[in-house]
Amino acid sequence: MFESIWLYHCGYANVPMSAVLSGDGVPRGFVKLPFMALAAYHEDHGVVLVDAPYGHDGPKNVGSLLGTLLGSLLIKFEPSWSVIPRLEQMNLRASQVDHVFMTHMHYDHTGGMKELGHATFHVSREEWNDATTIGPLDGLMKGYAISDYRALHAKMNTLDCDDDYQRNREGHDIFGDGSVHAISLPGHTRGHMGYRFNMKDGRTIFHVGDAVYDLRQITARHGMGSMGKNVSHNISQAMFTISELQRYHEENPEVILTSAHDIALGERCLRGPIKL
Ligand SMILES: [Zn+2]
Repeated sequence: MFESIWLYHCGYANVPMSAVLSGDGVPRGFVKLPFMALAAYHEDHGVVLVDAPYGHDGPKNVGSLLGTLLGSLLIKFEPSWSVIPRLEQMNLRASQVDHVFMTHMHYDHTGGMKELGHATFHVSREEWNDATTIGPLDGLMKGYAISDYRALHAKMNTLDCDDDYQRNREGHDIFGDGSVHAISLPGHTRGHMGYRFNMKDGRTIFHVGDAVYDLRQITARHGMGSMGKNVSHNISQAMFTISELQRYHEENPEVILTSAHDIALGERCLRGPIKL
């Protein structure tokens, strides 16, 4: 089982709220859209991470030209926010990390992978196929920075998850001890996955990755913002996944939800990693 779990951000972008959420009752104005990830401590398997957003070079993982543009116009990033210093801020060391669970391979989730090259990366087979059977330029258009993970093929553990959340809500038991399940949450990308952690203290924490950007899409049933609509691989599949997550939340209100870009969680970890 997991003893502790932390949430941290590797940067953020100032965006209009309409990019994140739509519908009645959604406040206007600009918000800080965080790029977040999880670290967790398993009693037998040690430190595991979910995603590896931004390494030392930050948003330049998309290439120096586009990265400089993103870095100066959109994304706020400091080297001390990248994955290795973040681990140290949680009193963890990169060399302790044996497993990284990837929600999907978009460039704001993969920038730190090279700095964790000794670990095993778990990803769905569909996601790995889509992220690697594409040229570098087409990849960028679809949100993939192939140079982040091209050399890590031998370190990837591709998971065969049923791609229908309704048929397989239990997901894939990664360590075989019931401590963490990979749950297929397709739509944002074809092979997008979430991870559900069972904690030693009895709590369950469900990280839904980019299945929603802001958790109010699940908890308050707000609509998807313009960004989600623009980047979704398959909108109707994404909407179906969200409706399933809404139902799951209704049936399991005690489960703590996290996402990679939730505005309120981002505010909570603005000053440094927080323990959930
Ligand atoms: Zn994404």
